[in-house]
Amino acid sequence: MEEAKKKSAGDLRREALRYDQKNGYDRLSAGDEAAMRTYCEAYKKFLDDSKTEREAVVSAVALAEARGFRPFTRGKALNAGDKVYRVNRGKALMLAVIGAEPLSAGVNLCAAHIDSPRLDLKQKPLYEDTELAFFKTHYYGGLRKYQWVTIPLELHGIIVLKDGSQITVALGAGAGDPLFTIDDLLPHLGTEQSKKPLSEAIPGESLNVLVGSRPFKDDEGSERVKLAILDLLNEKYGIVEEDFISAELCAVPAFRACDIGFDRSLIGSYGHDDRVCAYASLAALLDCSPARTAVCILADKEEIGSEGVSGMKSAAFDTFMSDLCETQHTPLKVCYEHSLCMSADVTAAYDPNFPDVFEKRNSALVNYGLGLCKYTGARGKSGASDASAELVAKIRRILDDADVVWQMAELGKVDAGGGGTVAVYMAERDIDTLDAGVPVLSMHAPFETVSKLDCYMTYKGMKAVYEAKEEK
Ligand code: MN
Ligand code: MN
Repeated sequence: MEEAKKKSAGDLRREALRYDQKNGYDRLSAGDEAAMRTYCEAYKKFLDDSKTEREAVVSAVALAEARGFRPFTRGKALNAGDKVYRVNRGKALMLAVIGAEPLSAGVNLCAAHIDSPRLDLKQKPLYEDTELAFFKTHYYGGLRKYQWVTIPLELHGIIVLKDGSQITVALGAGAGDPLFTIDDLLPHLGTEQSKKPLSEAIPGESLNVLVGSRPFKDDEGSERVKLAILDLLNEKYGIVEEDFISAELCAVPAFRACDIGFDRSLIGSYGHDDRVCAYASLAALLDCSPARTAVCILADKEEIGSEGVSGMKSAAFDTFMSDLCETQHTPLKVCYEHSLCMSADVTAAYDPNFPDVFEKRNSALVNYGLGLCKYTGARGKSGASDASAELVAKIRRILDDADVVWQMAELGKVDAGGGGTVAVYMAERDIDTLDAGVPVLSMHAPFETVSKLDCYMTYKGMKAVYEAKEEK
């Protein structure tokens, strides 16, 4: 037998000193690989069931209830091992697993968001032009408008009648449902449009959804196509045109989550941002056995600045936490100052097709695991909460102890742009917060791509954080 080659002094020093990362597949155990497959199939189902924040809440509550979670009633005593949740206005969800350690020792928290970029209908959406009927839209979140034309769209949301009763709409989700679309110019007539910058080629007011073309039968009046659509809507949902005033309807891509690549290593879908981290945070909470209390918040409105009663800035979160704390006569501020939060949101994956906007040495790579962002923000870290070195060290320890594949990530070149998420609003509450999430290709596009390994490692990382025992 040949003798193993002796390592040179340089090799030994290299091993000891350098930080050289490996592709996650080079260290994935067989057990993790099997668990990853199961996990990703369940995640794909969650995606298909959850095209809006409201639908994500319904899906998440069903999963939580099946695992023993119950609605939390203010003032009710809680014991270690209890699993509770509270829905905020149908659009956000907070869950907790009560630990044996007191809430005065702080909680381990994961915060993600369940809203995604989309096209919201205006409050007076329906109109007819040249015997075609359309819905006017106002886009929600930072989307690239040119990507949203000539793709199949579904219609999701609710209509609230004046008497308070609600009608749920999920058109396109069922087999055989009709779909919708937004048209674009043919290349033959697109010469002038093609000269415009991408951001101007499709103006916001041209994102009008085509909803019909057939005129009302045997009628001589005006706007017969619009009338025929109203007639159909009345028949199907019992609504009249004025009811759109109190509706929240949106057009979302009609794609179903699917495997991408010959090797099926990736998942393509609408809404990975941020249901990929929301699902990881939720699934990890359902599976964890924490010593400290573990809390998961799935927030709304992140894509438009975390504003509003259902966003991360809302006191609804503080109210939930103080309701928990009051069961142990603990001041909320004492709980907060000892707590630890992962702000679970996606980051940009390095895209070799667009190398100019990335700084390769500090970018998240596909299949290199959960991406930790010490800071987000733009131009000089503006708007970033910038996690402390102490916190980053603690998270390194927690993730390494749990054998999680992770990497450091920065969203793009210093002067190229930037972004933000809910981290800053958690940090403002006096909670130590670090951003962490799945690297995404084509973020905010109607069809985004993530790696299965990164999805699973995000789940594993969040579970390790919930179960972390150390105190501040
Ligand atoms: Mn996000
Ligand atoms: Mn986003």
